[in-house]
Amino acid sequence: MYDRNINYLFNEVSLYTKEIFNVFNYKDNQYHLDNEQLNQFLCYIGCLEERLISYCHQCKKTFPFIIVKNVIIHNTEEIYAENMIHFTKQSRFGAGRLSIDNGAILGLQPPYDKTELLNNHIWYIHYFFSCTNNDSHNYHMIISVELNDGRFIVRKVGQNPSMLTIKGFDFDKYKKELEKINAYNDYKKADLCNAEHFYVGAYAYLRRIFEKMINRYLTGLEIKYNHMNTKIDVTKDKFDPRIQKMLKNLYGILSVSIHELDEEKSKEYYEYLKAIIDIQLEYEKTEDEKENQTKSLEATLNKIKAGIV
Ligand SMILES: [Zn+2]
Repeated sequence: MYDRNINYLFNEVSLYTKEIFNVFNYKDNQYHLDNEQLNQFLCYIGCLEERLISYCHQCKKTFPFIIVKNVIIHNTEEIYAENMIHFTKQSRFGAGRLSIDNGAILGLQPPYDKTELLNNHIWYIHYFFSCTNNDSHNYHMIISVELNDGRFIVRKVGQNPSMLTIKGFDFDKYKKELEKINAYNDYKKADLCNAEHFYVGAYAYLRRIFEKMINRYLTGLEIKYNHMNTKIDVTKDKFDPRIQKMLKNLYGILSVSIHELDEEKSKEYYEYLKAIIDIQLEYEKTEDEKENQTKSLEATLNKIKAGIV
């Protein structure tokens, strides 16, 4: 069973990833239809399902979404009333065309001569999704479908809102703490890169946040050597006691040049760094809250005292 359906395309596939379907195979001077490949292609672009299953970031719950899809017509000479991909030249049976509503091939039927099947042709399909729990909750997606030597090449070229918003990432939880070190944007970009499977970039942003954190703690302190190890030693006390011992391991990780890391390693290091940074941000946040609480108690106490005297 082919499981790369519209849910996968919308929720898992990052922008510009290409997927190839060998729908027409060239043999004996003709392009022959491969039904299995056609089915996988139709499944991937959502012709076989009526609903998308996705997390609704406004309902904060997973819901089915109604799908409305349209081939974007950009050539005014080719205005068709039907929602079709016209993939052959015109013939006396009409052009061979694929309905993106039900996946049927109409008009000229395969096999096709080399001169009949279009080559290096590209179509764009726009998807409009509306949440079945509240139809004002909408998502958009655009894919390109390219026909090249009998192969359909599919790329997701646009999505709004972004995958991060859809997946409900909460950037603002530590906004105050991150802004103190001017790292709010780095934090966002790290997660954005990670969601797009660009782990090397994600790792680079997290490393920058950690360095900014250390530099802030270093303010006013004297250090003999400008090594990360020395910096960690001097600032250790500012970290959550639970992670103080782990900080030394970070030195090894941080000193590896990003260009030396492969994707797997970057992913592994990213998760480690991210966990430590989040623990520290949570720690700073609670310390701030405690301090505010103490200040407010002091203020109240002073007021009471003033009233008594
Ligand atoms: Zn909703």
